Parts: sequence; C-alpha cells; structure tokens
Amino acid sequence: MNEMDMRRAIERKRSGEELPAALWEEIVGAYMDGDIDDVQMAAMAMACVWRDLTVAEAAAMTRAMVQSGDTLSYPAGVTVVDKHSSGGVSDVVSMIAVPIVAACGARVAKLSGRALGHTGGTIDKLETIPGFNVALSMDEFVAQVERVGCAIAAQTAAFVPADKRLYKLRDRTGTVPSLGLIASSIVSKKVAAGAHAFVFDVKCGQAAFMNDAPAAVELAHALVGISKQFGRKARAFVTDMNEPLGHSIGTGIEVIEAREFLRGNEDNSRVRVLCVQIAQAMLTLAGVEDGESKVQDALDSGSAYEKFVQMIEAQNGSRAGFEAMARSPHRTELRADRSGFVQRMDTVLLGNLGRAWSEGDPVGGIRMTTRIGDQVTTGQPLAELYGEGADIDAIRPAIIIGDEAPPVRPLVYEIV
Ligand code: URA
Repeated sequence: MNEMDMRRAIERKRSGEELPAALWEEIVGAYMDGDIDDVQMAAMAMACVWRDLTVAEAAAMTRAMVQSGDTLSYPAGVTVVDKHSSGGVSDVVSMIAVPIVAACGARVAKLSGRALGHTGGTIDKLETIPGFNVALSMDEFVAQVERVGCAIAAQTAAFVPADKRLYKLRDRTGTVPSLGLIASSIVSKKVAAGAHAFVFDVKCGQAAFMNDAPAAVELAHALVGISKQFGRKARAFVTDMNEPLGHSIGTGIEVIEAREFLRGNEDNSRVRVLCVQIAQAMLTLAGVEDGESKVQDALDSGSAYEKFVQMIEAQNGSRAGFEAMARSPHRTELRADRSGFVQRMDTVLLGNLGRAWSEGDPVGGIRMTTRIGDQVTTGQPLAELYGEGADIDAIRPAIIIGDEAPPVRPLVYEIV
C-alpha cells in the first residue's frame, strides 16, 4: 500500500463505503511498517468517527491489530476466561470477581491497563500492594494462570502494538469516539491475550466513554459480535457509571476496599450485585455449573479471599504487607452544607481528584459515605478525604444536593 492507495481508501470511507477486510489488514500492516504516516491514518480515523465501521470492518480491523504483535495461548483442555471494563470510577470489580471465579475452579487471565483520564487502572491499584509485580513475562503469566488459577498483569510493549500506536493517535486527534474503533481496540487485546471467553462490563453514564444507554448497548453488541467472529464466547453487561461504583476512589484505598469486601467486612450492595453477576457469567462461559451457589460459597468460606492472596504471593507480593495496608492517616471530612437529597454527582471530578490524591499518597483518595438518592441533613458527612493533598473546596462541587429525590436508576441496564 502506498500514499495514493491510502488516499483512495480514505475517500471511499469518507463517502460511506464499506471497505473489504483485506484492505483493512493492508492499512494496519502499512501503518505499522511506516508505509503510511500519521497524517493519513488520522484522516482515516476521522472518516471512521463520521461513518463508523460495520461489524465486518471492525472484525477485520481487530484481526489486523491482533496480527501486529505477540499472542498468548493455553494448552489444549485448559479453558480460560477474561473480563474487561470499559473504564469507570471506583471500579473494584476485577480485584473481586477474578479471585472469586478462580476460587470456583475456572482459570482467569487478565492483562490490564493503567489509569486513563479520570478512570482508574487495575494495574496502578495492584502496584500499591507491597512487592506486587505487574510486569510478568508472557510465559510467567500463562504458567501462573495454569498453576494458581488467575493472574492480573500489565500488557507488554509487544502486545497489540498497532492498538497502542493507533490509540495514541486517536487520543491526539479527537478520534477516539468511533464505536467500531473502540470495539476493535478492546477485542483485539482480549483475543491476543488468548482467553476462550470474555465478559465485558460496558459502563454508561456521566463518567463513562458512553454517556447514554443506547450507545452503550450498541457497543456491547459490537463487542459480543466481534468476539464471536473469533470463535470466543462472550457476554456484555451495560452498567451504570453516573456515580462511583464502590466506596473508595484512588489506588491503594480501592485495594483495601476489595480486600475488606472479600473478607466480608465491607457492605456495598452495588459492588456485590455486579461482582456476583459478572463472576457467575464468567463461570457459565467457562462451563462451570452451579455458578450461583459456588460464588456464594467462595465469598462465605473465604476461599475467594485466599485465592486473591495466592495470586498476590505468586506475583511476589507480601501477604503481611497486603494485610497491613491502611488508609492514609491524613483524614478530613466533607460535610453537607444544606439538607436535601443527593441528586447527582460529578463523577469525572471525583475520579480526577481520587487519582490526583492517590498519586501523592498511594493510600490517599476519597471514600464516599453517600450515594445518589440519599437524604442528608446539614453537617452530615458526605465523603472522607485521605492524603495530605486532599482539598475540601475542590471536592465540594462534585456532590450536588437539591430538594427533590432523583429518579431511581438501575445498576445493570442490559445484558447482551
Ligand atoms: N478502551 C480501549 O481499550 N480502546 C478504546 O478505543 C477505548 C477504550
């Protein structure tokens, strides 16, 4: 492919034509080989934002990106499941659902990303556990999944390099929001990581990529549809992200929340409902029967907690260090300056502040003590702030109190 061919391809996409699969593979190959430059690729990305991709085009793009780097595989007879979140605030689900599923007898392999914008990254969170090694080689990763039942590690540089380059370009050129490009970016990383089945958690709301439910449902269908074209079983949950999912926002303080949840000391119905449903779906796709009772047993017996500790130790982390983790001693409270109902939250702002305060102090951040819909009185604590950099004036606008109770929103909008 040369510059003229690419120019023609951009023009065809710009006028709404569906491009053949072989052309997408050529485009991605030529981009990685340096035969076409960022200028033309950015123009193509913008044409994709405008016209979007059909499922067949997104699948071709996915295949081309998978082929750009290393891929993982597991020995015959070993079934592996993976889970992906499209990015949220206080999204503690991976740290809870992964050990639950492994404790129930399925194998879970999760290559995770770092924080992006206001959304947290599981890798940054796990790195706050003393000694925890996120940089496993791909051989170590696969071996740990087989031996321990689960592993969560960072993606290496050789893992789907076309997505890394293209994502950076999209980020610079305002071309992230194409459903087809988002779906192919996500599924390429799941396919390359080698699992046989995927459960997607597509967040929807103020702090999500997809602000409204119809767009999130469309992305959920695309993710499942493309995964199936690669012979993978897949299910997608469309879930609420208008407020933080858990109580904690940060890095280490989210690890502490996950630890206490798995020990039965932390009561959060939204986290419980989502983790249980996602874990059950992962078990079903892995072919494990009786998922519902197994998940409950894993939580009640403490076997899910022990599995989390086993994973930490397998990745060089210290059980004693993990169990000693505590929220920062620098604590202040945000209190309500009026009575009323918590009507809405600026969850993007909460995510940004939690991230900033935990960068200064790994066990700093925010702990929410209210939810949307709660009735509060003047002076009542709304949130606890941890860390020396925490600033009450910065967080106050994030929690909006009014006279009327807001409408009740579902946690799970749809399962695809
Ligand atoms: N997450 C990804 O991995 N890729 C996208 O394009 C958007 C969100």
